[in-house]
Amino acid sequence: MSVTYQTGPEFAAEMDARDSLAHFRDRFFFPKIEAGEKTGEECIYLCGHSLGLEPKSVETYLQQALRDWANFGVEGHFHAKDAWMPYHRLLTEQTAALVGAKPFEVVVMNSLTVNLHLMMTSFYRPTAKRHKILIERAAFPSDQYAVQSQIRFHGFDPATSLLELQPRDGESCMRDEDILELIEREGDSIALIMLGGVNYVTGQRFDMPAITKAGHGKGCVVGFDLAHAAGNVPLMLHDWNPDFAVWCSYKYLNGGPGCVGGCFVHERHARAVELPRFCGWWGHDEKTRFLMGPDFRAMEGAEGWQLSNPPILALAALRASMEIFFEAGMENLRAKSISLTGYMEFLLGQAPSEKFTITTPREPMRRGAQLSIRFAHEGRKLCNRLAAMGVIGDWREPDTFRVAAVPLYNSYKDVYRFAQILSAAFH
Ligand SMILES: *Cc1c(COP(=O)(O)O)cnc(C)c1O
Repeated sequence: MSVTYQTGPEFAAEMDARDSLAHFRDRFFFPKIEAGEKTGEECIYLCGHSLGLEPKSVETYLQQALRDWANFGVEGHFHAKDAWMPYHRLLTEQTAALVGAKPFEVVVMNSLTVNLHLMMTSFYRPTAKRHKILIERAAFPSDQYAVQSQIRFHGFDPATSLLELQPRDGESCMRDEDILELIEREGDSIALIMLGGVNYVTGQRFDMPAITKAGHGKGCVVGFDLAHAAGNVPLMLHDWNPDFAVWCSYKYLNGGPGCVGGCFVHERHARAVELPRFCGWWGHDEKTRFLMGPDFRAMEGAEGWQLSNPPILALAALRASMEIFFEAGMENLRAKSISLTGYMEFLLGQAPSEKFTITTPREPMRRGAQLSIRFAHEGRKLCNRLAAMGVIGDWREPDTFRVAAVPLYNSYKDVYRFAQILSAAFH
């Protein structure tokens, strides 16, 4: 699908008319502008990288769960329309397909940071010789905290055990070859490589298969935080071969605020029931779980890392979104995403270039839907102006405005209007 982008509004209208995914927009609620002369108009929502919009069908799923609770009480575990006991598995196949895994390699559970800790408990096993964790300096703070606390928990010091990737001077993004070179150079002392699939500030997508291969070549464990990758870019976790991965479901996956996250454990570990882990009753082999014996025996598969019985209401909300995802198809979504983000980049290229730079990589293969716009001056003020005009993106100190045109519900017209408003805001 190669088109030549054009600057006028007719182009956006024509692209929307041709877009076979355009009708999915109607399946979501869009926030409205709350004050000022545009009160009541639909916002231009470009914040799916932070919190995905609410599918209208969420209500139906939630109501079913609530009705089942009302009608059955505890018996809902067995007699609900979709029994609660195996409820989390209703999401397994779709989740596995979404991240390119085998179903028993994934589980939907907890939240991202919790899952990250659970995975590090099993897979970060530092020794005196090999104790470092490699992350991005600009990693999401929660990942930084989690990783540093794990290092301390094992009696090491982040000052000597934390190895941070950062771009070359004057550059915003990491060069893939620099990452591989660092792994080659430092790999013997690295216990765990824990990188984002897509960086949350710059939107840079990393070469996950190459990093995994390089890390394994040096004997390191490799895990990915896919918060900004899941539902955004294609993933083939089983084939790419990392040891584990974690993600959340409220960003591109539209599961709702604080919704349950996901976790991948590669096949070669997933059946290793003797692996050290923090245990809870839901990770116990289901065949004997309800004998309620004192000794833990892990389930095979990623489910063996579960702690608690799952939050049915949150899972119900996530089902609504996953269903829509699969109707649309990840390949179709990615194709539209590349086109839509390219269009945004093209339109922004028409605005006064001294006012801002786009720090996200230019190559579609090195990014997902997000573009990060770094303002030269007074970014905060500009963002407030954009917000008053109904543009919802998000601000990251000190100078970056992040926007994502999400292929599931954003239109070419959204992108066009955003570019118009941004250009106007500069004057
Ligand atoms: C959004 C995000 C988180 C959030 O963690 P929660 O445990 O879901 O609150 C963590 N890491 C990254 C990289 C993120 O983008």
